[in-house]
Amino acid sequence: MRKAASSAGELDRVEEHEDVDLWEEYGELVDETIDYLKTGFRDGRKPAPADHSTESEPPSPSPQVGDPISACTTLSEVADLVHACTRCRLHRGRRNAVPGEGREKADILFVGEGPGAQEDVQGRPFVGRAGQLLTKMLAAIDLTREEVYITNIVKCRPPENRNPLPDEAETCFPYLQRQIEIIDPMIVVCLGGPAVQRITGSTSGITRMRGTLHRYKDYPVLPTYHPAAVLRFPDKYRRPVWNDLKMLRDYYRELRR
Ligand code: SF4
Repeated sequence: MRKAASSAGELDRVEEHEDVDLWEEYGELVDETIDYLKTGFRDGRKPAPADHSTESEPPSPSPQVGDPISACTTLSEVADLVHACTRCRLHRGRRNAVPGEGREKADILFVGEGPGAQEDVQGRPFVGRAGQLLTKMLAAIDLTREEVYITNIVKCRPPENRNPLPDEAETCFPYLQRQIEIIDPMIVVCLGGPAVQRITGSTSGITRMRGTLHRYKDYPVLPTYHPAAVLRFPDKYRRPVWNDLKMLRDYYRELRR
């Protein structure tokens, strides 16, 4: 039976002993450094470049009654629609759409911004380095990936790992809305500013929003930093994320009483 890390110190030791490919990590760090020197990034993601070639492309309308998304009754049906989706420009550059994975009736739903390179290749959410850290974060509060559901605001990889553009997030949001309705979770955890801003409609930054509960319809929403931000700036983000995880653990226990 898995023994979960129960403190930030234990989380540190779990990470230290993780069987990771150091050379692969070194190569990725070099790539990230080059990316940073070329473009900079915020909250662990690159800024969205102007996309003049597609500015005239209007977002698809939100689904109405009778829309196939609204008609889905299972996560598998939502996933089938996502895999075939061409509603926004992001479908053009994807290898695989990434609908999400986990328990159909999970108590806790994790929502990130969008798939990265590894997620695009594998068609699964949070499988790169940030995903490995998310798995450790879950273990630190005695959860497994199989117990929760993990997805993103947009289901297809934005080019060069930029943040989703507002019209892309808007166009893809009905899929997440339907996933939330089907899962009906106790808590929605938003990973990063774009996720919590899209779900709650707030324009506040993640630093102001984290540490307190927010709402999406009847669902409590707990924001925290994206794991990619923790990887890039561990001294800055590890402690607040650990505090948010403890808040999630305690609130979840309270809800289950
Ligand atoms: S990001 Fe969402 S709306 Fe855009 S093509 Fe992919 S599944 Fe469709």
